[in-house]
Amino acid sequence: MKVFKFGGASVKDADAVRNVAKVLGNFANENVLIVISAMGKTTNLLEKLVDAYFNRTDAKYSTFEEIKQFHYNIIDKLLPQTQSHAFDDIENIFIELECLLEAEPDNNYDYHYDQIVSYGEIISTKIVSTYLNEAGLKNRWMDAQNFISTDNTYREGKVNWSLTNEKIAKTLKPIVQKKMVITQGFIGRSSVNTTVTLGREGSDYSAAIFAFCLDAESVTIWKDVAGVMNADPKRFAEAVKISGLSYNKAIEMAFYGATVIHPKTIQPLLNKEIPLYVKSFINPGDEGTTVGVSREKEDQVPTYIFKQNQMLISIASKDFSFIVEENLSSIFSLFACYGVKINVMQNSAISFTVCVDYNEHKCNDLINELEQNYRVKSNSNLELLTIGKYESAEVNKFTEGKKILMEQRNRRSLQLVLA
Ligand code: ASP
Ligand code: MG
Repeated sequence: MKVFKFGGASVKDADAVRNVAKVLGNFANENVLIVISAMGKTTNLLEKLVDAYFNRTDAKYSTFEEIKQFHYNIIDKLLPQTQSHAFDDIENIFIELECLLEAEPDNNYDYHYDQIVSYGEIISTKIVSTYLNEAGLKNRWMDAQNFISTDNTYREGKVNWSLTNEKIAKTLKPIVQKKMVITQGFIGRSSVNTTVTLGREGSDYSAAIFAFCLDAESVTIWKDVAGVMNADPKRFAEAVKISGLSYNKAIEMAFYGATVIHPKTIQPLLNKEIPLYVKSFINPGDEGTTVGVSREKEDQVPTYIFKQNQMLISIASKDFSFIVEENLSSIFSLFACYGVKINVMQNSAISFTVCVDYNEHKCNDLINELEQNYRVKSNSNLELLTIGKYESAEVNKFTEGKKILMEQRNRRSLQLVLA
C-alpha cells in the first residue's frame, strides 16, 4: 500500500490535473491512497475570505465569487459535458460555504478560519476525483475528517493518534485494499465535531499520518521540483538535488526552513521506518530524493537552508546579576506561553539571546512582559542560515555584504543569524 501526496501546484489548473491523471496511470493496479491539497493558491484566497467575513467587509462577496470562478474555470475545462451527479455535489459544496458565510461570526477567529479554509481541500478533491473517474481511473472520494481526529486547537490541530489509528485501520484500510482512494490533506475533525486544520502546508503531515496508520510501504510527495535540493536554486545557481537523506537530517532541514517538506511529516514515518520519496510530477520517471537512508548512505554535500523573518531577542538582567537557571526557566515559560518559537539560543553570564520566528503580536506581547523584569533588546527582519556538512561549505557566498549577528557551531551544522 502506498500513500501519495499532491500539493496545490500539482492541481493548479486543468492541465495540471490532467498531468496528475497521467502520473497515476502508472499505478492504476496498485493500492494507493492519494492526499490532495487545495488547488493552486486557493488557501491564500480563502484566508482573504475569512478576513473579509470576520471584519464584515464587502470583499466577502467578491472573494467568494473569485474562488468559485477559479474552480468553475477548471471544471469547465476538465468536465465539459459531464452529466455526473458529482457536478451537483460541487455546486452543493459552494452553496454550503455560502450559507456558512451568511451567519454572523462570533469572536473566535481561528474557529471560523478552519470552518472556511478547509473548503479548499474539499472542493479540490471532489473535482480531481470526478475527473479521474471519468478518465477511467476508478477511485473513491473519502472525507479525511472522518479519519483524522484532533483536539480543538483550531489552526494547529493536535492529532489524537489512538482514535485516528483505530478509524483508519478499521474503516479506511479495507477500502484502500480494494480501490484507489482520494482524500484531503490539511484537515481533520475535533472532539466536538468541528473542522480543524493542521497548520499551513499541513498536507504532507496528513500523508504521513495516513501512512503510519495504514502501515504503508512508502509515501511519495509529488512536487514541481526534482526532489530535495541542497539549497534554494533561486539563491544558489549551483544547487544540486540530494538523492538520499536520513530522517534526522530531513527533520533538521525542514525545521530550519527547507520548505519542500513540512517539518511534522518525518516523525511518524521515522517511527515505522516508512521511506519518503520526493519526486517530480513533471518527470515522474526520474529518481527524486529518498528520505530514510542511513547516515552512512546520505549524500555528503553541504546544505544551505534559509529561514526568513527572524527576530533576535537579547535578554539581560536589570541589575547585572547572572542569568542562571531560575531566570532561564521563567524566561522559557514566557516563550512557551506566548507561543514564540525559538530556533537558536545562546547564553552568557549576564545575558540570554535567542533567534525566533517573528510574529508581530506574539513577539510584542512577549517583549512587553519580559521588560518588566529584564533589559530587552530586539532586532527584526533577519535571516537564519543553517549550513549542514559545513566543513566543505562555501560560507562566504552567502554572507557577503551581510552582518553576522550570531553564530553557532556544532559537529554537524553551522548556524548564522544575518542582517
Ligand atoms: N492548502 C493548505 C495550504 O496551502 C495545505 C497544504 O497545501 O499543504 O496551506
Ligand atoms: Mg497548498
